[in-house]
Amino acid sequence: MPAAYASDPAQTRGRRHLEAAAPTRTEYQRDRDRIVHSTAFRRLVYKTQVFLNHEGDLFRTRLTHSLEVAQLGRSIARALGLNEDLVEAIALAHDLGHTPYGHVGQDALNECMQAHGGFEHNLQSLRVVDRLEERYPAFDGLNLTFETREGILKRCSLTNARLLEAQEPGGVGHRFLEGTQPSLEAQLCNLADEIAYNAHDIDDGVRSGLIRLDQLAAVPLFEEHCQQALREHARLAEPLARRRLLYESIRRMLSAQVYDVIAATAERLARTRPLSADAARRMPPQLCFSAAMQERSLALKKCLFQNLYRHPQVMQTMGHARQVIIELFQCYCAAPHEMQAVHAARASAALAGDAAHDSLPRVVADYIAGMTDRYASREHERLTGKRLWV
Ligand code: MG
Repeated sequence: MPAAYASDPAQTRGRRHLEAAAPTRTEYQRDRDRIVHSTAFRRLVYKTQVFLNHEGDLFRTRLTHSLEVAQLGRSIARALGLNEDLVEAIALAHDLGHTPYGHVGQDALNECMQAHGGFEHNLQSLRVVDRLEERYPAFDGLNLTFETREGILKRCSLTNARLLEAQEPGGVGHRFLEGTQPSLEAQLCNLADEIAYNAHDIDDGVRSGLIRLDQLAAVPLFEEHCQQALREHARLAEPLARRRLLYESIRRMLSAQVYDVIAATAERLARTRPLSADAARRMPPQLCFSAAMQERSLALKKCLFQNLYRHPQVMQTMGHARQVIIELFQCYCAAPHEMQAVHAARASAALAGDAAHDSLPRVVADYIAGMTDRYASREHERLTGKRLWV
C-alpha cells in the first residue's frame, strides 16, 4: 500500500516530450525499462568503481554497484511505502554520467573543463538521459519523467542550476535555487548509494589485499558484526574461512544499516507526517540514519578513505588514469575528427559557430565521459603511442 508521501506515477509531472501512456506499465516502470535498455547503462559494466576494470574480474564495476544500490533501495522503499519502481529507475541511472576510471576521471575532466563550464558527474548523468542517448526518432535522450530526472540530478552547482532553470523553468534545477529537497525516493537512493559503496568497498578492499581485516577492527560498525559472527560460528575463525567471515560481517553490517534507515526514517515521518510527495519536498531531508548509525557510518568512511582510496597502489593507477583523460581531451580538441562520426559532426557544428550547439570542449567532454575504461585506454594508446598499463 503506497504511503501518502510516496511518488505516484499517475500524478507524475510528466515527460518533456508528450507520449501516450503505456498499456500495462506505470510511468516509472517505463523509465526503469528505458534505462536498462540504454547504451550508457551497458557501458557501466566496463567502468571503474574504485578498482580499475583490468585489475580483476570480481571487483565492483559501476554496473554491479548500481544493481546493488537498486536492490537496497527497493528493499527500503517497500518497507517505507515508497514507490519501488521510481527508486529502481533512479538507482540504475544514478551513475550513468560517470567518466572512465572512477572519481579521478571525473576530477581530471573537470580540470580540463574549468574554463568551459566544468564537469559534474550528476549533471552529466542528466545529460545522458536528456540528450546524449540516441534511440528515438522524435527526440534526443530517453525522455524520462520529471521525478526520475530529479533523482538523477543529486547535486548541482548554483551556476548550472540557473542554466537548467533558464532552459526548463520550474524544472529539475529549480530545487537547488529555492533550497527544497527532491522526492523521498530520490533521498532514499542517495542513502542506498552510501550503504552500498561502504559495504562493497570493504569487500573489494580486502579481496585486493589493500585492506587487512585487522585494520577494520578499528571500525566499530564492522568489528561489532565480525565479533558477533565469530561468537555464533566458531569455525569462521579458521584460516580457510576468512572470506566467509568477511562476507558474513558485511552481510550483517548491511542489514543493520538498512533496518536502521527504515526505523529512523519511519520515526521521523511519523512525526512530520507529510501528506503528499510535494509536502515532503518542502521539509528537511526525511531519509536518515539514527544518530548512532550516522556516526558509525562516518567512521567507516574515514577508514576507507585513509586505507583504500588513498592507498599508494590505488593512487599510482589513478595517476595514469588522470594522464589518459587529460591527454585524450587535448588530442580531441586539437583533432575533433578523431572522434566517432556522431561526435565529430557535433564538433563541426560547434566549430561552425552555431550558438544552438554545444562548444567543442563540451562535445569532447561528452565523448570522453561516455567511454569505458578500456576504450579510453585503447584510444589513448592509438592517439599518443603511449601504453600506460600492461
Ligand atoms: Mg553511486
